[in-house]
Amino acid sequence: MESSATEPANPMNSTEPMKPPATTLRSVDDLCDHALVPSERMPELAEVAARYAVAITPAMAGLIDRSNPQDPIAQQFVPDARELETRPQERSDPIGDEAFSPVEGVVHRYPDRVLLKLVNACAVYCRFCFRRETVGPGRGGLSANALAAALDYIRSRPEIWEVVLSGGDPLVLSPRRLKDVVTRLAAIAHVKVIRVHTRVPGVAPERVTSALVRALRTEKATFVVLHANHPRELTERARAACARFVDAGIPMLSQSVLLRGVNDDAETLGALMRAFVECRIKPYYLHHADLAPGTAHLRTTVAEGQALMRALRGRYSGLCQPAYMLDIPGGYGKSPIGPNYLREDGVEIEDFRGERHRYQP
Ligand SMILES: *Cc1c(COP(=O)(O)O)cnc(C)c1O
Repeated sequence: MESSATEPANPMNSTEPMKPPATTLRSVDDLCDHALVPSERMPELAEVAARYAVAITPAMAGLIDRSNPQDPIAQQFVPDARELETRPQERSDPIGDEAFSPVEGVVHRYPDRVLLKLVNACAVYCRFCFRRETVGPGRGGLSANALAAALDYIRSRPEIWEVVLSGGDPLVLSPRRLKDVVTRLAAIAHVKVIRVHTRVPGVAPERVTSALVRALRTEKATFVVLHANHPRELTERARAACARFVDAGIPMLSQSVLLRGVNDDAETLGALMRAFVECRIKPYYLHHADLAPGTAHLRTTVAEGQALMRALRGRYSGLCQPAYMLDIPGGYGKSPIGPNYLREDGVEIEDFRGERHRYQP
């Protein structure tokens, strides 16, 4: 139907691309102003937003197709009334970080590596976040004293070979603060590897300045692990931001969360993995979605995930293969969950087409 000039503008029906907002959208009012939620749903969505933080950066708001109610970018960031429905098996701390936190800001679950959570804020808030009960704007981060205590803990444990900066998103910090932390970590002799887990190169590529890249460079091996879930997130500007890290000698890996309606089909998942590889990012993990509260509508089954992994293996380069991981509820850590190509009897192996062959060493 054609709209005439006399009709009042209805942004929800407009096919014109919306101009991206100048700043991050943080309230249901902001989302309504930018045609991301209809005004009649504001009361229930305000309830969701009061419980779980909302933030959509200009880069992500500009990517959302308003004419598609199932838009995969919107599914990740725009609040949904179903988030108010918590299932009995869902937990506020789904992977059991609390029990493995020896000092504030540190999670030490595996012997050789720790998570160091510098901030509780992110550039965007994902609707499926497993730390959704603890992240948000204004939740602060580690104080100077707490950071000193966390570094003391790492310094006192020679078995800690790797430190993973996680959060919150560490790349929301200023280059100056990042440089301070990275320099102090690099000065610890037994810390050989520093890894940064972030969504920033995709969702706020303008933050990846040469000062930020320089802040992460030390004589220790530094890796940046990009979290992205849909190939459209890898825009030209996002690709350029990733290239700044890789060109500076900082290798990149990816992590993605398998999400219903976002990337749970072989074409989308394959395109995502190819986009990573084209950016010189090696696909690392595909996470089965955690049992975070109010996220059942975004989870797939494990069997669906395994079928998708088979489809990836059947159709795409070995460079495009992530490991499919489950973080075991209760704090037991991550395990790869297949699929398994060796049959139970151990004398038959399936190839990428699904055909079986005898294997008798
Ligand atoms: C996921 C995680 C890591 C990193 O695990 P890798 O398998 O090395 O990527 C480290 N510590 C904790 C507590 C984690 O949850």
